[in-house]
Amino acid sequence: MADNDKCAHEGCVCAVGEDEEYCSPQCRAAGEEDVTGIACDCGHPGCS
Ligand SMILES: [Zn+2]
Ligand SMILES: [Zn+2]
Repeated sequence: MADNDKCAHEGCVCAVGEDEEYCSPQCRAAGEEDVTGIACDCGHPGCS
């Protein structure tokens, strides 16, 4: 499987658990729409 230690959204640097692909619903929505070059909207510290 792909590495699961980081959110699958390209614009996001948040860490995620082994069972998680995205750190947040916001990232999931962006990732599934294949949005690139957009800032993460998860609101997590260190991620803007
Ligand atoms: Zn993030
Ligand atoms: Zn994320």
